[in-house]
Amino acid sequence: MHCQPEYKGQVYIWLNNNQNCLLCDEPSETALALCAPCLDELPWLGTQCGVCALPLPAAGQVCGQCQQHPPAFHRVVAPWCYEFPLDSLISRFKHHEQWPFGRLMAELTGQFLQFRFDEGLDRPDGLLPVPLSHQRLRQRGFNQAVMLARWLGEHLQLQVEPHWLQRIQDTPAQQGLDAKARQRNLRQAFALAADAPVAGRHLALVDDVLTTGATAQALARLLLDAGARQVDVYCLARTAKADTPG
Ligand SMILES: [Zn+2]
Ligand SMILES: [Zn+2]
Repeated sequence: MHCQPEYKGQVYIWLNNNQNCLLCDEPSETALALCAPCLDELPWLGTQCGVCALPLPAAGQVCGQCQQHPPAFHRVVAPWCYEFPLDSLISRFKHHEQWPFGRLMAELTGQFLQFRFDEGLDRPDGLLPVPLSHQRLRQRGFNQAVMLARWLGEHLQLQVEPHWLQRIQDTPAQQGLDAKARQRNLRQAFALAADAPVAGRHLALVDDVLTTGATAQALARLLLDAGARQVDVYCLARTAKADTPG
């Protein structure tokens, strides 16, 4: 009888995975569309600010910005630095509609968050994607934060509420304004749906990249003012330097 394949390993691989690595195109041999060496080489975020996740040289520290102006959000959780190849993966997902890249990053972020929950990080009551301006939504046709939140919600069995946060103003004019006025301007760009039951809840904002944290700050303030108990921020990547708005 030679109807059974001799090499069980191949059968196992074939049964579990017939996809190639999205980065190097070699057979991935993992349950993901990413091979083990490429996974290892991703720019995993190391020591960081305990609040905003800004990369810092030593562990257990809070950055100067967070010390001087403690943000409204409780903490930022992100697996990666916004560096190559993460920046390119995010751009392919966001600007070239390559959904498998988004799905892959959401899957890995879901695993990362589950690991953090197992370690004691508080699970939120729900996920709130950062809303996109109407103008951006028209240009892009989809909100990448909503897609990420749905994939994460599926993976972590968390409720996703894509309509609680609303962007009521398109790009507010920020030029020539000081930091305080910019923050006020940004806060006026967002609103909470009238029937959003945020009071007493622990919520997590979801976005692709965190740069200055100004948007997260405005949204967290809005939610806390409406009675939310705690607001965390989950994103794929954190920039090392806060030099672009977002
Ligand atoms: Zn690879
Ligand atoms: Zn910080």
